[in-house]
Amino acid sequence: MSALHDFSVAQLAAKLAAKEVSSVELAQHFLARIQSQDALGAFLATDEAQSLAQARAADARIAVGEHTPLLGVPLAHKDVFVTRDFPTTAGSKMLANYRSPFDATVVNRLGSNGAGMVSLGKLNCDEFAMGSGNDNSAYKPVQNPWDISRVPGGSSGGSAAAVAARLVPAATGTDTGGSIRQPASLSGITGIKPTYGRCSRYGMVAFASSLDQAGPMARSALDCALLLSAMAGPDLDRDSTSLDMPAADYAAELIAANTKAAGSHPLQGLRIGLPTQFFGAGCSADVLAAVRGALAELEKLGATLVDVSLPLTELSIPVYYVIAPAEASSNLSRYDGVRYGHRAAEYTDLEDMYKKSRSEGFGDEVTRRIMIGTYVLSHGYYDAYYLKAQKIRRLIAEDFQKAFTQCDIIAGPVSPTVAWKIGERSDDPVASYLADIYTLSSSLAGLPGMSVPAGFGAHGMPVGLQLIGNYFKEAQLLSTAHRFQQATDWHQRKPGAAA
Ligand code: GLN
Repeated sequence: MSALHDFSVAQLAAKLAAKEVSSVELAQHFLARIQSQDALGAFLATDEAQSLAQARAADARIAVGEHTPLLGVPLAHKDVFVTRDFPTTAGSKMLANYRSPFDATVVNRLGSNGAGMVSLGKLNCDEFAMGSGNDNSAYKPVQNPWDISRVPGGSSGGSAAAVAARLVPAATGTDTGGSIRQPASLSGITGIKPTYGRCSRYGMVAFASSLDQAGPMARSALDCALLLSAMAGPDLDRDSTSLDMPAADYAAELIAANTKAAGSHPLQGLRIGLPTQFFGAGCSADVLAAVRGALAELEKLGATLVDVSLPLTELSIPVYYVIAPAEASSNLSRYDGVRYGHRAAEYTDLEDMYKKSRSEGFGDEVTRRIMIGTYVLSHGYYDAYYLKAQKIRRLIAEDFQKAFTQCDIIAGPVSPTVAWKIGERSDDPVASYLADIYTLSSSLAGLPGMSVPAGFGAHGMPVGLQLIGNYFKEAQLLSTAHRFQQATDWHQRKPGAAA
């Protein structure tokens, strides 16, 4: 018999509805597991009393016959979503002990006032979501459950590790330049970054506002679809960039698409574009082999593979690493030690207080980005760097539209390598930046993208297949991934640490 933590979100919801288990029992089971197994460092905060209170509220709703697809199922939030019930640090000393007076919209929609999921706590991440290995967390690095000497990916590394190790059935993440897809890939789980604006950014600690987007991370596409349906949707009073489009019932669409196209070629008619630039020498052979294996499987299911080109792919790295730090330098200026955030204990005058508070509160990577961002926005350099980057950003988005005249979905690797050793890239930020090559361009274009477990590469580490859709095509991405997951079992493989 499977243990409770082996069940998916969909299965747990069914068990709750059938009263085979209560939400309180589930919360207790997972909290005990976190207590005994989280040497991985995935959680930054838990609070049994708060979680159990949320679980009792869910049980009360179930008792009066309420049926919503996620009611009573546990989850945990990346620590960049502000929460009333738990502290919020964004992985930074700057926000140590910070307690928000309100919940982020995504937290609110998933939680007691909405879908009724029960939060088990807050998940570790790179400081202010800047990083690719979760080793920029000011608190502790996170270990990859497949090999604890390796990173889980980042910046949503705590989310990925916790889901992979079955410490929680699903988690939220955020993706600015790949931070949902890359850790999902490196930790062998499923994650989707929706179209920019799909989920409200209200209450998400800001990194780069024109790129930041929330999304779900879980073991399967179906579970991601269930969460996304609750997370997405307009929030115009609070986030003016949230899309004025109602959320779809992604899980229902996925199931309907699946029923309609049953048979041996359910993906008949789907054109999958393979950008030449994603399959070059920059990608390691083990990752390419796994990705090609997954593409062959999609072909067997009826999809047609076509070659496409995204000629500006390489430029997405310099463009992103100008725009994202520029926005970050502006967003992070609010942490001045006055309104909230860390304040130095001793200082001589106001300026000294700012300087000391910010130098003490921010880690190296965040400081580096503030300096880059301030530089590219400064008088005399603005046109040469920031404005130029914005122009190329537009061209990158246009390249995708050209590609989408030849295909419905774009596919390729998520990360050029499997997870690396903790500490291996700590002294070389540029090496980390270069590894974002396959995720940055779709982020700059604002397109939805996902990572789907697609096999294993070097050292037995997981490899993700990236699927990128056109704007608002989350349902198509999720149902394609779902069919792939019905034909494969990569997403069900279990790391040693999840026993
Ligand atoms: N690795 C990228 C960076 O360091 C992406 C981070 C993210 O998506 N939050 O900026």
